[in-house]
Amino acid sequence: MTANVALLLDRDGTLIHDVGYPRDPNRVALLPGAAEALKAARALGFKLAIVSNQSGVARGIIQPSEARAVQVRVEELFAAEGVTFDGAWFCFHGPDEACRCRKPAPGLIEVAAHELDLDLRRSIMIGDKASDIEAGIAAGARAVAFGNARIHRAEAAFPTWVELGAWLCGKS
Ligand SMILES: [Mg+2]
Ligand SMILES: [Zn+2]
Repeated sequence: MTANVALLLDRDGTLIHDVGYPRDPNRVALLPGAAEALKAARALGFKLAIVSNQSGVARGIIQPSEARAVQVRVEELFAAEGVTFDGAWFCFHGPDEACRCRKPAPGLIEVAAHELDLDLRRSIMIGDKASDIEAGIAAGARAVAFGNARIHRAEAAFPTWVELGAWLCGKS
């Protein structure tokens, strides 16, 4: 029986500042309040899974080694705040490759769900773009928008991690 629930987390623009095709680990910066909210979510029993499009690799803008180094830095910075992730899944394809993993396709979420034994109906995709929300819905998960973009199919939207964290904890 599937018992696990997760936050399915977009990375760039949701967990860290979006610099566009990130390739420099030194430019990784956590978004305010993210670590604290994720720690609270973990205490509530959520697994933490990153699902991220990185088409810069297919476009030749990001070397695979740079993509790895950026993710290592992300994990280091969160670990320093007491947050560890259960896994990270990436799509390195370009938009014209018609892969099953590039959000808004649900492929990354489906693989994460398989590997972490997730109940997607109770898991929550969180992202700053419509493609994140659409991927979550397509996978059968809940979907919540982070940031200031208006994403109309999201069940809720929060401009900051403080508000999103409060919502996750049932305080709003
Ligand atoms: Mg994003
Ligand atoms: Zn892909």
